[in-house]
This record gives sequence, structure tokens and C-alpha cells, in this order.
Amino acid sequence: MNKIPQSLIDSLHGVPGFDEAGFTQAHLQPAVTSIRLHPVKQSKAFADNVQVPWCPQGRYLVERPVFTLDPLYHAGAYYVQEASSMLLHYLLKQVLPTNENLRVLDLCAAPGGKSTLIASLLDESSLLISNEVIRTRASILEENMTRWGYMNSWVTSNDPAVFGKVPGYFDVIVVDAPCSGSGLFRKDARAIDEWSEANVQLCSGRQQRILADVWPALKENGVLIYATCSFSQQEDEEILDWLGGKFEVETINVQILEEWGIVEVNSSRHGISGYRCFPGKAKGEGFFIAALRKKESADNIRFAKSKSENDKKIAQQASFLFKGQEPVFLQLDKETHIAIIPQHEADLQLLRKSFFLRKAGLQTGMPAAKEWIPAHDTALGIALADTISSIDVNREQALRFLKKEEMDTVAAKGWHVVKYEGLGLGWVKSLGNRMNNYLPKHWKIRMNIDEE
Ligand code: SAM
Repeated sequence: MNKIPQSLIDSLHGVPGFDEAGFTQAHLQPAVTSIRLHPVKQSKAFADNVQVPWCPQGRYLVERPVFTLDPLYHAGAYYVQEASSMLLHYLLKQVLPTNENLRVLDLCAAPGGKSTLIASLLDESSLLISNEVIRTRASILEENMTRWGYMNSWVTSNDPAVFGKVPGYFDVIVVDAPCSGSGLFRKDARAIDEWSEANVQLCSGRQQRILADVWPALKENGVLIYATCSFSQQEDEEILDWLGGKFEVETINVQILEEWGIVEVNSSRHGISGYRCFPGKAKGEGFFIAALRKKESADNIRFAKSKSENDKKIAQQASFLFKGQEPVFLQLDKETHIAIIPQHEADLQLLRKSFFLRKAGLQTGMPAAKEWIPAHDTALGIALADTISSIDVNREQALRFLKKEEMDTVAAKGWHVVKYEGLGLGWVKSLGNRMNNYLPKHWKIRMNIDEE
């Protein structure tokens, strides 16, 4: 590994919990690998591995497998996430009195680690908006959220300033800010070359702009979670102090166990608590997180649901796809039919006015002459009806399906969900003598599956 910049080390002297020898030593070790299990899509994958102490679904892996070659990864049985950042789970559990009827924004969300974690925690009455401003990254986010399968997880792609259009709308806003990345040196050696004091300053300015832009969207007494994967105080404690100086906030302190090796810090001017993970001390990579409450009045966006847009004809055709609460079925545009949780209809009416909604609810598919052509989203959704016909495949067949190859199995004419170990991967249509693979082109795995 490249050498850690001396100016970073110098800047960390005096930071609570920093120990140069331990820090340097830890950077001679490989990064810790971990995953977070899906709470609904139960599978045998990694269930017996050692648990990440601050996240019940987190698991440490002894070595890093080739995830692309694991069909369970594609089915959304787990998400590959760095262990320290799962501390968000612990904070949210401590801070939120309920998981129901909340509106949560994950502002800087791609590729989706925090968003899949938040989605796992929320009741279906709550709504999660995962936003990513950079378009190419937003498509990866959308794919990961589709794989996670929740109807109440939506994806937008907007600049943080656009959230000023919905003042006081969110109960919780998570800002996992773009940062100088010193916490990820073990995962990505390029981050070492890209690190500089000038970049720390640049990131700090950007972090302030992002927070100032999104602040109005948080309601009074709402919770802001701020996180980075940087060790630099300019991006961590100093940002908390900047927030404390500019807005009325209250610090939220949570009890963490000493044995976790996570260091609690307080910002020097406003005494706002934050939690820092140093590799070598906590079992994970570098991470910083803080929670604070907005203690000032916020404008309140007024919105009421106008007439329901539930399309009864579509509902009749597509409701066989879902179990549980009957969704609202809508046509967003010529090609997009969606199903959303009924409580979220007013939110859709509001958000589609100002935001680029990449994903709202689940896409349901398209009506055709004598059938309903199901969309890929539904096969991965946690609300897929148990009555849908499925084809159970082994690992090799699953990988061939994921390579968008023709299937060698036989099944009755019609639509079937391809399942691996009980979890949906996508749709096929049997024509009797052959099977058409409906995996979307851009989901196709490109790796050679025979090379192992
Ligand atoms: N939360 C993500 C997760 O857990 O998978 C990681 C987010 S990453 C630390 C920061 C994200 O902020 C990146 O996806 C980046 O594209 C986005 N970003 C970059 N510049 C931004 C800006 N000016 N405003 C908002 N987001 C920005």
C-alpha cells in the first residue's frame, strides 16, 4: 500500500482516540470485508458468520468472495457494506421513537449502502427517498434499490438545492457527504494518491453548501444524520460546529459500548457529539457519524392528496403480482406503470412536480393483448405474491440466467419467476418449446462465469 500522507497523520495528532502507531499498523492489514443481510429475503448466505456488533444484520467475512458469481447477491439476499458505516443502524434505532409514518431522505445515496440499511428499518407506512445527484451513479443506486425490493423506497436524482422546494417535509435527513476519503485508504489505494489538504478544504466547503441547501427540507424536531468516511476534523467536528453556529440544533448523544472501539468526540464550540471509527480500533474502516435535532421552526409544505389516480383497470390486471396491502396502481408515462403504497399517493403528486423521480414504488409492467407483461422490479420485490409460478434453479442455471442466456429448463407455457434458493432473480416466459429470458439488458453480468 502507498504511504499514508504525513500531513494527514500530523493533522490527526490531538484527535481523541488517534494513536499513530496503531493507525499505521492497521493500514498494513487488508480492509475488513462485511455484508448486511436482507431482513426479509432470508437465505443461508453468511448467516453463521460473526455479527457486526452494532448491526444485527451485519456479518464479517473471512475473505472476499467474487460477489458477482453469487446468485444470492443478485437476488438481494445481502448488500456488501463496510462494517463501520452500519453504525447508522445503531444510531437510527437509538434516535427514532418509531419507524412508522416517517419521511426519510438519504441525500447522497449512491451506490445505496445507507439507503438499503434505512429501507430495512422502516415500516411500509414510511417513505424513503434516496437521492443521488450524479446521473450515472443514480442508475447504480436505482438498480441496488430495485434489488432490495421495497415499494416504499424511491429514487430521485436532483441537486440538494431542489429539496428547498419541500420545506419541513422530512422527519429524517441523512447526509453521507462526499469527502476526502481518508477512511477508505485500505479499500482503495487510489484514495491515498488523491488525498490532499487542499481537497479536505474543498470538501469542507462543499459539505457546508450541501447541508445549507437541504436544511430547510427538515421539519422542526427532525433528525439530521451527518456522516463522512474522512478522519479530518475540518470535515467532521468542524462541520458540526458550523451547523451549530448557523442553525439552532440540539446534539443527540447515544450510548455506545466501549468494547466496540468506537471513539466518541465532541465538537469544540457547540459540544455536538460525533462517533469516529479508526481502523485497528473498531472492526471496520474509517467512518464518522453524528445525529442532531433541528430546534427551529421550519416552513411547512402544505399538500393534500387530490383525487386518487388509482387505475382500476390496471389494478385488475396487475394485482395478482402482489401480496399484502393492495397497492395503488398508476401510469406515470406511456411506458411506466407503477404500484405504490396507498399512503404515498399524495407524496407522489407532490414530488413529481419538482423532482426527477427515477423510481417511485415498483414498476409493475405493461398490459398486452391477452396478458400482463410483468416488470423486472416485481420479481425482486418483497411483496411478490407467493402464488406466482416459479422455476427453481441451481447455481449454474442461475448464473446462466443472469448472463441472459437461454434457459435449459422446461415449464408450462406462460410467465415464471426464476428463483434461486427461494429468492427471485427475474422473469422468464415459456413458449412451451423454449424459454425467453426477460432479464433487463443492463442487468446482465459480464464476467465469465466458467472461470472460477
Ligand atoms: N451513501 C452512500 C452509500 O452508503 O452507499 C455513499 C455516498 S458517497 C460517500 C457520497 C455521494 O455524494 C456520492 O454518491 C457522490 O456522487 C455524491 N455527491 C457528489 N457531489 C455531490 C453534491 N455536490 N451534492 C450532493 N451529492 C454529491
